[in-house]
Amino acid sequence: MSAWENNVRRVVPYVPGEQPKEKNIIKLNTNENPYPPSPLVLEKKLSLEKLRLYPDDKASLLVDAIADYHGVNSNQVFVGVGSDDVLAMAFMTFFNSDKKILFPDITYSFYDVWAELLGIGYERQKLDDSFRIKAEDYYKENGGIVIANPNAPTGIAEPVLFIEDIVKKNQDVVVIVDEAYVDFGGESAASLIDKYDNILVVRTFSKSRSMAGLRIGYALGSDVLIKYMNDVKFSYNSYTMNMPSIILGAESIKDEAYFKQTIEKVINTREWFKDEIEKIGFCCPPSSANFLFITHNTVSAREIFERARENKIYVRYFDKPRIDNYLRVTIGTREDMEIFLDFLKKNV
Ligand SMILES: *Cc1c(COP(=O)(O)O)cnc(C)c1O
Repeated sequence: MSAWENNVRRVVPYVPGEQPKEKNIIKLNTNENPYPPSPLVLEKKLSLEKLRLYPDDKASLLVDAIADYHGVNSNQVFVGVGSDDVLAMAFMTFFNSDKKILFPDITYSFYDVWAELLGIGYERQKLDDSFRIKAEDYYKENGGIVIANPNAPTGIAEPVLFIEDIVKKNQDVVVIVDEAYVDFGGESAASLIDKYDNILVVRTFSKSRSMAGLRIGYALGSDVLIKYMNDVKFSYNSYTMNMPSIILGAESIKDEAYFKQTIEKVINTREWFKDEIEKIGFCCPPSSANFLFITHNTVSAREIFERARENKIYVRYFDKPRIDNYLRVTIGTREDMEIFLDFLKKNV
């Protein structure tokens, strides 16, 4: 080992779902939307000559479009390079006490990675046996709270009153609500940002807006909270949002009809698929997201995962305590799900 390696910041990185290079696969492993972005996005002409210029450091076009959409002020909106960037910035900005932050034992597996990276102490709170969050676990002293709602990888959503209760009982810390999947059936806590100055609601264009490739995420919160985040962002990298993301993100927001239509298709496919797999021995919690968290009564999840992969069908398997007999299956097109269903019928 070289001497300089003693001074390396050592981290165990987050492992994203596979992005296989092969063609003709069925990809149900990273919760991407199976439908293309809005035609307004696809048809927008970009003046690429402008790429010689720095983009707007405030990303005003996008920030204003998001603010209008949610009926909030522009100073209540923070944008970042996907919600992963927004969440990392929020951790950096708000979790600086010597008390531990709290999040569920089964949740988005990036939270503990950021906490480790930034030296933030954390304590996982156990979900109950049906994978529900127990609100009481979040009443004790803490340095901050992060809750994904709907939760990942379970897909289970809690009502906004449940979130409000946690926010109300924790007004001395910041509560982050990660709403990556809320458009697929959850109830947003965005309505709480005018009532509580300590809640940050984080959203993304990656799933419901079919724009994972552009990397657009945002947060809604009180103007004070957003100002603190911008101070950190401008101390780190002024130009996080590139010109195409700013312009195409704003285009997407304009197309409410298309947005609603694709979401409805995903939800309908999800409910149809859930009914079908329940007939062949699977069971899964009710999902308010664009995926299902499934387990079979006889065949192990790992076995199904491996056999599916051999058949060029990719789903997500987590080799982790309590969930190692589950698969997280992204809802694809109806055609993709029919192929996966046929595969399951032959393999369980
Ligand atoms: C996908 C996801 C994100 C990150 O999405 P971005 O593509 O970075 O916007 C954040 N939180 C959860 C729970 C997710 O599933």
